[in-house]
Amino acid sequence: MEGYYLTCEDCGFTEHFTTGPGYFYPSVCVKTLEEIRAGKKFPSLKKAADKYPNAHASVDTVLYVCPKCRTAEPCDQVMIWIPVDETGAWMSDLKRELPHTKYRLASFLVHRCPHCGTRMKIWKSGEIRCPKCGGKFSELQGDGCIWD
Ligand SMILES: [Zn+2]
Ligand SMILES: [Zn+2]
Repeated sequence: MEGYYLTCEDCGFTEHFTTGPGYFYPSVCVKTLEEIRAGKKFPSLKKAADKYPNAHASVDTVLYVCPKCRTAEPCDQVMIWIPVDETGAWMSDLKRELPHTKYRLASFLVHRCPHCGTRMKIWKSGEIRCPKCGGKFSELQGDGCIWD
């Protein structure tokens, strides 16, 4: 993956982000799901993780923004996905799982603003407005870092 950064022309806020999906990264996702089931991490997701034995977890770190006070901070984006058949019904039998199994979102982690308690939203890199002050970002720039 290639890294990019944006800098706000008004307040200097800089956001680094990477292109491409950071989640469904197998080892991290499997480990996270185990930790959720063991009660070590993200207790709000335990119910969904326990209910569906062949659930999958997606894990990523993304920038969350408070829509009220504009606090911006990177948080874990953790989602629990369950395989479903064509009718949208939960598939409990792994043998029925086809290569192109569809997934449905069963549960996800909610982040609340540390300052005002408002539910934070995921800031998308396509929104070329500063998450902190609403100012204009400079052009997209590559920082030369390549992660694999
Ligand atoms: Zn700004
Ligand atoms: Zn806030």
